[in-house]
Amino acid sequence: MSKNKPAEPRISPIDMKPDEFRSVGYSLINQIADFLDTVPQKTVTTRKSVQEIKNTLGVKSLPEEGFEISKILNQVANLLFENSLINGHPRFWGYITSSPAPAGMLADLLAAAVNANVGAYSLSPMATEIERQTIQWIASFVGFPDDASGLFVSGGNMANITGLLAARKAKLANIREQGLKDRKVIIYCSAATHTWINKAADLLGFGTNSVRWIETDSDQRMNVARLEEQIKTDRLGGYTPFIVVATAGTVGTGAIDPIKKIALVCEQENLWLHVDGAYGAPAVIVPEVAPLFDGMELADSIAIDPHKWLYSPLEAACLLVRNPSALKDAFSFNPDYYNFSGSPGSDITNYHEEGFQNSRGFRALKVWVTLQQVGKRGYRTMIQEDIELAKMLFEQVGRLNDFEAISRQLSIVAFRYITRDIPAGKDPEEYLNALNKAILNRLQSEGDMFLSNAVVKGKYCLRACIVNFRTDRKDIVRVPEEIARIGNSVQQIAERLW
Ligand SMILES: *Cc1c(COP(=O)(O)O)cnc(C)c1O
Repeated sequence: MSKNKPAEPRISPIDMKPDEFRSVGYSLINQIADFLDTVPQKTVTTRKSVQEIKNTLGVKSLPEEGFEISKILNQVANLLFENSLINGHPRFWGYITSSPAPAGMLADLLAAAVNANVGAYSLSPMATEIERQTIQWIASFVGFPDDASGLFVSGGNMANITGLLAARKAKLANIREQGLKDRKVIIYCSAATHTWINKAADLLGFGTNSVRWIETDSDQRMNVARLEEQIKTDRLGGYTPFIVVATAGTVGTGAIDPIKKIALVCEQENLWLHVDGAYGAPAVIVPEVAPLFDGMELADSIAIDPHKWLYSPLEAACLLVRNPSALKDAFSFNPDYYNFSGSPGSDITNYHEEGFQNSRGFRALKVWVTLQQVGKRGYRTMIQEDIELAKMLFEQVGRLNDFEAISRQLSIVAFRYITRDIPAGKDPEEYLNALNKAILNRLQSEGDMFLSNAVVKGKYCLRACIVNFRTDRKDIVRVPEEIARIGNSVQQIAERLW
C-alpha cells in the first residue's frame, strides 16, 4: 500500500455481500428441498464402484485463482446428492444411523452463522445456556436427576470415553497427578459391548487386558452372577476394579443389560456405574419398554447419541453425569492465558473445563430445536412406531419357510435366509453363514434396501435397525421378497462354482 493514496476499503475474496449470500443461500436451500422430496425415489446406495466415484469427482488441482461460489455449491450439491449413501431413505436400516431431522439441518446452518465458541461462557453466552438447557432436557427425557450435568461431544465413542474419564478421576485417588503408578485397574462390561471400550482402554493407558468382557445370557444381556464372581477374583488377585459399563441397547441386537442388578453390585462394591445408552436410552420414554431400563436412573453417567434415536444430523452425542461437579473434577485446568471465570459468585459454565475439547462448536442447537419441534409426545410416538415396525419385520420373516427369525430387541431385528438345498458335504451352519454374508454384500451394493449384519449365537445374520421416521409398513413388507430374490441368485452362482 502506498502512503500517498487514500486507503481503499479492504476486499476479502472470502467474504460475501448480503445479496450474494441471499441468492446463493436460497438456491442451495431449494436444491436441498428438492433432494429431500425425491429421496424415496432414489436408490439407497450409489450402485457405483470405488473407481466410478473417484472418476465422477475427477482429478482437480487446487485453483490458483478462486471462482464463483454459486457454481461451486451447485456442483457439489449435485455431486453429493447423486453419489452418497442415503441414510435418510425410507429403506435404510443399516448400522445405527438415523434419518436426519430437517430442522436439525437448518439449525446447523444457524450455529455456523453465529459461530459461537461454546468452550467458554464469555465467548458464547446464549449458546452455553442453550447447551445447558438441552442437557437438562435430555436428562429429564431419560429420567435422570434435574441437576445432572453433562455436555455435547461428537459421538457415542467420545461420550463413553468421557464417562470413563470421569469415573477414573472419581474412583482412583490422585490419578490426574500421578497416573496409574502400580495400579492394575479393571473395567467390567458385557461381551456384547461396543468396541469403544477397547479404544478407550488403549488410549487411557489401561491396556485392553484391563477390560473384563462378562459373558451374556441367551438374550445377550450381562450375566450379573458372573460379574460378581469376576470382581471377587480380581480383588483377590490385587487388581483395582473401578467401573462397570452396562449397555442399554447393544449395537448388535439391542439387548439391555439388567441395569438395576448391576447398580446394586456397583453400590456394594463402590464402583462407578456407566450406562452406554448411545442407541437405546431414548426408548425409555416408551411405556411398553420402559421397565427394561429400570436402574438407568441410578447410573453415575450415561452416554446418549442424539444423532441416533433423537434424529439429529451428525454429529451429536452427549454424556450426562449424576454428580454435577464430576466433569469439572476430571477435566478442569486453568491456564493463566484464560480469563473465563466471570465475576465472583456468577453461575457460569465454561465447557472447556467439562471435557476434552477446548474450542467447541454448537452441537446442542440442532438438538434443542428439534426437541421442541417434536415434543416428548412426538418422540414417544416415533420411537414406539420404529419398535412396532421392527416387530412386524420379525413376525413376517418368522412366518416364512426360507427365513429364520433370530432376535428382536428394541428396534433391531436379526434374521437369516435359509435353504434346504445345502450341497452334499457342506457343513449346514457354515454354508448358511457364507450364504447370508454373500446376500448382504449383494444387497449393500445393489439392493432395494440397506441392511447390515450381526453374529448371534454363531449365526451370521442380516440385521435391520430401524431408527428411521421415514420407514413405513409398505417398506417392511418388501424385505422378504427382496432377500429371497438375492438369496436365490447368490445360491445359483455358488452352485455353478461347485
Ligand atoms: C453407536 C454406538 C456407539 C458408538 O457411537 P458413535 O456415535 O458411532 O461414536 C457406542 N455404543 C453403542 C451402544 C452404540 O450403539
